[in-house]
Amino acid sequence: MTRTLRLGHLYPLQMSIYGDRGNLVCLRRRAEWRGWRLEVIAIGLGAGDGRLVAGCDGFLFGGGQDRDEAEVAADLRAFKAGPLAEAVAAGRPLLAVCGGYQLLGSHYRTRAGAVVPGLGLLPLRTEAGRRRAVGNVLVRPDPGLGLDAPWLVGFENHSGRTFLGPELRPLGRTEVGGGNNGVDGGEGVLAGSIIGTYLHGPVLPRNPGLADWWLARALAPAAPAPLPPLDDAAERLAWDRAVAQVRREQGGLAARARRVLVRRRAAG
Ligand code: GLN
Repeated sequence: MTRTLRLGHLYPLQMSIYGDRGNLVCLRRRAEWRGWRLEVIAIGLGAGDGRLVAGCDGFLFGGGQDRDEAEVAADLRAFKAGPLAEAVAAGRPLLAVCGGYQLLGSHYRTRAGAVVPGLGLLPLRTEAGRRRAVGNVLVRPDPGLGLDAPWLVGFENHSGRTFLGPELRPLGRTEVGGGNNGVDGGEGVLAGSIIGTYLHGPVLPRNPGLADWWLARALAPAAPAPLPPLDDAAERLAWDRAVAQVRREQGGLAARARRVLVRRRAAG
């Protein structure tokens, strides 16, 4: 009997920008390559869709523009908050990217000053900054993830600056890029079966260890175990190229900074 995993895709119409839908494709393929089925359940606006949450083995929550977040926030709190809290308390995985990540906390205050209320699932808050954080990112992952890759790679594009409560730990330390807020060096959050991150890209195909982290928890929420290995040669090639791209950009930035410094010194 083929095992079927049910993936709850939160607000696919409103919250899936910068390629985040690719995370769903990645999970489906990595499940199928291991002989499992992955069924996608779209969880959209409305009370009825709130009742779909209980039947899912794990969740994806993608990024969105400020207006998209505002549109889903009230519905999220009214109809999904309770079932989602129960699901993650049982160890079912939730990967929340950027806007979805922001809505896990108390609120997101937009650049326009609007306060978008969040789920309150995690003690974190987000305040829009004056400048957007945009670019390729390298993150040294938290050892608790048990990943064999030295970095997570991805792409960020957000105005929000997220601040974790003292009891939370980041998904990793930002080596290149803005990360949570450009100040404390953290990127994302790792809290039980919840991963929040600013990494688009999509994040999972470039970081297959994270995809397997999600699958292991969807398969066995109470006791996640290592999965049968896959041939990740293509994923490693994509990862190598993404890391090399970040390093080239870093080198470019450093060279430009040196030229500015030389000109300033020459100008006295
Ligand atoms: N609108 C939010 C921000 O700008 C989230 C953006 C996103 O999901 N990429 O911070």
